[in-house]
Amino acid sequence: MPLYEYRCEDCGPFDHWRDPDQANAPLTCPRCSAPARRVYTAPGIHRRTGLLAGAGTADRARIDRALTGEPTVTTRPGGRPLPVHGHRH
Ligand SMILES: [Zn+2]
Repeated sequence: MPLYEYRCEDCGPFDHWRDPDQANAPLTCPRCSAPARRVYTAPGIHRRTGLLAGAGTADRARIDRALTGEPTVTTRPGGRPLPVHGHRH
């Protein structure tokens, strides 16, 4: 089952495992039970904005190292894709 991202107006974004057939069906926030809307992200790009607020710094440093030519990290630890530019708030 794929992981979809939804967003509650009050609590912010959250993830939810769901059958693809149900991806666009209405969903309620697990925290406040308010209606949540699906957030559409590009395939393979999963931004956990708001959940890992401090992750951006470490990820950026990793990218900087990669750009300087150091053969350090070319894989994606834990299968988490590197973040794209910019931040959503
Ligand atoms: Zn909520």
